[in-house]
Amino acid sequence: MYVLFSTLPNEKSSKNSTEETEKRRHLQLDIKKAIALGQFRIHLQPLVNLDTCEITGAEAFIRWDHHIYGTLLPEEFISIAEESQFILEMGDWVLNEVCRHYKNWMKEDLPPVKISINVSSLQFLQEDFADRILNIISSHGLNPDFLVIEILERVMIRDYQQMKLSIDKLHEMGIKVALDDFGTGFSSMEYLSRLNIDILKIDQLFIQTIPQDKTNSAITDAILTLAEKLGIQAIAEGIETDEQLEFLRKCGCQFGQGYYFSAPLPPAECKKLIQARYLIPEPSPRTPVDIRDKRAYPRYKFHQYLEASMTILKYDGQDVHVGSTLVLIHDISGGGLCFYSTVSLPLKSNLFIQFSTSLLGRHINLYGTPVWGKEVQEGLFKYGVRFRISEQERFKLLKLIEEIRSRADRGDTILEGDFTLLSPYSYFNI
Ligand code: C2E
Ligand code: MG
Ligand code: MG
Repeated sequence: MYVLFSTLPNEKSSKNSTEETEKRRHLQLDIKKAIALGQFRIHLQPLVNLDTCEITGAEAFIRWDHHIYGTLLPEEFISIAEESQFILEMGDWVLNEVCRHYKNWMKEDLPPVKISINVSSLQFLQEDFADRILNIISSHGLNPDFLVIEILERVMIRDYQQMKLSIDKLHEMGIKVALDDFGTGFSSMEYLSRLNIDILKIDQLFIQTIPQDKTNSAITDAILTLAEKLGIQAIAEGIETDEQLEFLRKCGCQFGQGYYFSAPLPPAECKKLIQARYLIPEPSPRTPVDIRDKRAYPRYKFHQYLEASMTILKYDGQDVHVGSTLVLIHDISGGGLCFYSTVSLPLKSNLFIQFSTSLLGRHINLYGTPVWGKEVQEGLFKYGVRFRISEQERFKLLKLIEEIRSRADRGDTILEGDFTLLSPYSYFNI
C-alpha cells in the first residue's frame, strides 16, 4: 500500500506561476480603487487575559473583498500596497475604521478595551507618522490611549533614530507599541529596552508547536522570562489548543489570542464578545471526539470516495520520512476531514499529517492531526482529522467546498478529482 512521494508535473507549476503573476498584476492595478469601491473591511480578534479569560483588547486585521478573487488576506496584498506607497492611505483607512467602531462602542458603554493595529515599516518610518495617527484619532473625538501600534520585529533595526522618535511621540500620546512576530527577527535585546517597547508578541510559529516541540517550548519560556525581567508585557499569538494554553499559563504568560478563543471576526460579532466581557473557550478534544459534531464548519460528504496520498510529516516534533500511503476521504469540512486507511495511527496531537489530492482540477495539500479513530473492520480504520492550516488556506478550502456544494445542489454530483467508485472494502481489498 505504500507509494513514493509524488511531485507535480512542471507544466502545472509553471501554469500556476503564470496565474500568480497575472493575479498580482491585476491586484496592483485594482488596489488603488479598493477604498473608493468599499472593498476593504476589518476583522477583529479578541485578546484575552489567560488567567481570567477576560477580554482586554482586540487586534484589527484588514481584509479585501476583491470582485474577482473573492476575500483576500493581507499576505496577498500588503507587499503590493507597500510597493506603491498606497500602504500609507490603506493604513489611514484601517485606523479610521477602527476609530469609527471604537467611538460607537464607547457610546454604547462597552468595556474600554485596547485596540491594536498592524502597521507597515513604511508607515512607521514616516517622519510625520505619530502626527498622522493623532490627527485621525482626534478627528473622531477620541483619546489616543486606547490604541496599540504593532510593528514587525524584523523591521525594528532599520532606522533606529526614526524608530525612537516615533515611539517617543506615541508614548507621549499614551499609545503603546508592540513588537509583532517576536522571536523570528533579529532584534538586539538592548534595543528592546532602549526603545521602551511596551509589548512583545510571541510569534505563532512557536506557540503552535508547544508543548511537544522542546526547542520551541524552551524559546517561548525564555521569551516570557526575558519580557518579565525587562518589565515588558508578553502576548502569545496563535493559541489553538488547551495544551498550548496550559503550557503558556505554566510559564506565566498572562495574555494571548488565537482560534482557541476566537478567530478574527467582523466588528459587530467581536463587539458581542467584548460586551460579554469573558471569553470562556470550549476545551479542544484531548480524547477522541467526533469532529463531525463541529457545527462551525458543516461537512460535505462526497458521493464517491476521494483518493488522497497521506504522508506523516512530523511526530513528536521530529521530521518523519516513511513515504506516503493512499487513503480514501469520506467527507470534508473547513475544520477537518474523515478518511479510511489500512494504517493504524496513534491518536496524538503531536502527529502532523499531510493529505494531497486533486479536486475540481486543483491540486490540494491539507494538513492536520487525527483526533478520533476506530477500527471499522479488521485491518480497516476510519479517522477524523482536525486541520492545522492557516486562515488563508481555510478560506480557500471553504470556497472549494462551497463550489462543490452548489454544483451538487444543481444536480452535478460527478466532480473532477481523484475519485474512486470502489468502497473502502473493495479498494483496500479487505
Ligand atoms: P499578525 O499581526 O502577526 O497577525 C496574526 C495572523 O494570524 C492573522 O492573519 C490572524 O488572522 C492569524 N491568526 C489569529 N489567530 C490564529 C490562530 O490561532 N491560528 C492561526 N493559524 N492563525 C491565527 P492575517 O489576518 O492573515 O494577517 C497576517 C499578517 O498581515 C498579520 O500578522 C500582520 O502582520 C499583517 N496585517 C494584517 N492586517 C494588517 C493591516 O491592517 N496593516 C498592515 N500593515 N499589516 C496587516
Ligand atoms: Mg499583529
Ligand atoms: Mg504576529
